[in-house]
Amino acid sequence: MRSRSKLLILAALAGAGPGWADEGKWTPQQVLELDARWLKQQGLELPVSRLWDPKRGTGLLAAAVAVPGCSAAFVSASGLVLTNHHCLFSLIQEHSTPQRDLITNGFIANSSGEELPGKTVRVTVPRRFTDVTKEIESAVPAGSADLARSKAIEAKQKELVAACEKTPGNRCSVGVFDGGLQYVLIENLELSDIRLVYAPPRAIGEFGGEIDNFRWPRHVGDFSMARAYKDGKPYTPEFFFPISRGGVKPGDFVMLMGYPGRTFRSLTSGEMANERDFRFELNREIYGEWIRLLEQTTKGSAEGAIAVAATLKSLNNSHTGAEGQLAGLARGSLIEKQKANDDAVMAWAAGKPAWAKALDAKKELDRVAEERRKMGVHDYLLTSVNVGSLALRDAAILVRLAAERQKPDAERDPGFQIRDLQRLQAALERDQKSFFAPSDEALLASWIARARKEGIAAARAANASELLRATKVTNAAERSKMFEETLQQLRARQDPMLEMAFVLDVELREWKARADARDGAVARLRPEWRKAVIAHAGKPVAPDANSTLRVSFAHVQGYAPRDGVQYKPLTTLAGMIQKHTGEEPFALPGFVVDAARKTDANRIPINFLADADTTGGNSGSPVVNGRGELVGLNFDRVWENVANDFGYAPDVARNISVDVRFLIWMLDDVQHADHILRELGVKR
Ligand code: ASP
Repeated sequence: MRSRSKLLILAALAGAGPGWADEGKWTPQQVLELDARWLKQQGLELPVSRLWDPKRGTGLLAAAVAVPGCSAAFVSASGLVLTNHHCLFSLIQEHSTPQRDLITNGFIANSSGEELPGKTVRVTVPRRFTDVTKEIESAVPAGSADLARSKAIEAKQKELVAACEKTPGNRCSVGVFDGGLQYVLIENLELSDIRLVYAPPRAIGEFGGEIDNFRWPRHVGDFSMARAYKDGKPYTPEFFFPISRGGVKPGDFVMLMGYPGRTFRSLTSGEMANERDFRFELNREIYGEWIRLLEQTTKGSAEGAIAVAATLKSLNNSHTGAEGQLAGLARGSLIEKQKANDDAVMAWAAGKPAWAKALDAKKELDRVAEERRKMGVHDYLLTSVNVGSLALRDAAILVRLAAERQKPDAERDPGFQIRDLQRLQAALERDQKSFFAPSDEALLASWIARARKEGIAAARAANASELLRATKVTNAAERSKMFEETLQQLRARQDPMLEMAFVLDVELREWKARADARDGAVARLRPEWRKAVIAHAGKPVAPDANSTLRVSFAHVQGYAPRDGVQYKPLTTLAGMIQKHTGEEPFALPGFVVDAARKTDANRIPINFLADADTTGGNSGSPVVNGRGELVGLNFDRVWENVANDFGYAPDVARNISVDVRFLIWMLDDVQHADHILRELGVKR
């Protein structure tokens, strides 16, 4: 099996076009199967075994770590972690006040004593990947109905995770690849004491704001740093990325390692249409409204603006992203193309007994997708409770927690087991920093109005301002008491927000049963269908992103966004100064402009393009050269490439990185942070 897939990977890569761009967010296991000669030709100077040694469970890839929602890199022997400014934004916001506004001014810790801890930031370091597909499959009793299948899979996953977490410091998960084609037990070391070391002023970390987001040409210093501690001391990683002083130039080979979140390439065209209609269309509409509400309700309030800053930033990013997905889906006719491919696979498989099951699976997948449409908006609104009003979300969590606590640990919902309680408590405490009553009321009222239209019972008689006036859920001290309370105690409070959450919990459980049954069906059907699709493609296909560690091999290069236009792959500080109008989001602090004037700004590269295969979650991914030295930090994709989540287009497949030469300039010439530069090995 091993050598066969290796041959296939070789064959596929040999067919790569002259533009280099290669589809594939490869898993560490797949990387080891790639042809070493091909990798060398591309520009990899290290032996592949330096990237990952499965026996020791380490390698350079272990320096590519995960932070919540993002990727990051160890860059020093004392646990210094480099990631994007937008990835540590909530940690920056957590410590900001109108008097000490770290969001606006940035932050530098001059000693370890000044570093700022984060309640909810964690770093996970990969340790081991074990294929557990057989164990999972054999845990499902023959002839199980779909809901029972999904429950059996979940129970086995919990069992594997519990065994894995017996090792001290471990945080484990079972990665599901392409809906069940493969299951991998992932063993990580978790570091939960993470402290902010450096953040640039927002005007640098977010230069260009939403106007430039997902766009090229770009000029943004989207980087920040934290330190990981273990047992109260700086963590010593076995591997970290040394900073390259040489930088990159057009045509250079780069490798990107990180944790891409979620893509949809393995879905059928019908399922893709559901993602368009019930994820991205609704994100555009509803997040658009919530953004307006947050802006209106915080106007003129420094306190309000800081409280909602992280929520607003993430809604903005998802909203712009949704617009990019929708534009790209339409422009590239991606769903129509997938339909044509689905049809071609079916025509190829027709009449071949070996693929009869695959054809049946496709029909059923279509039926499951059709079924989902009926409840699409309704179910979106139920799950959006996680995103909107904090009061409603916290009430929903408290009610669910009290109910799950009554069960034996192994039977509790994922997310509410003993292993989750500490982080849940920290998240609920942390919410206080983001709570601003007028904004929360507006979001709650919006949700209630929409939910009522969809017939969601919890919204029927609800009134946002009355609920918020009467509830104690928004009081930090009361909320922390509620965290320990039983269902009966919560009921006895007669708190209207909790009462609403009790009704909502019934509906959320019904939704969960629907979603689980669907997942059970998909686990049964998708592997059959994908086997046919992959056989028809005749080449290895990297699985869809699922927040697990992946590697993408790429080259620095520009692209043509449309006829008659060619984009260069590198921008410079000079371009940033050109964009500086003094008006937000193009308003640089005076000291940055002064420092830029003292240098040849054309010689300081700031951002660069490469043809890596990335998505959301890849933010903060280390971008390294063929020797494993850090040349950049991924933070975005270009507009024409946002819909690559649905299909790969080599001519526009470009990711955007911060060039480390800008990072060095910023820390050196602008902020004189010599102690950080020394730690990075850039200065003596
Ligand atoms: N900006 C994205 C992120 O936050 C990266 C991307 O979408 O390419 O992960």
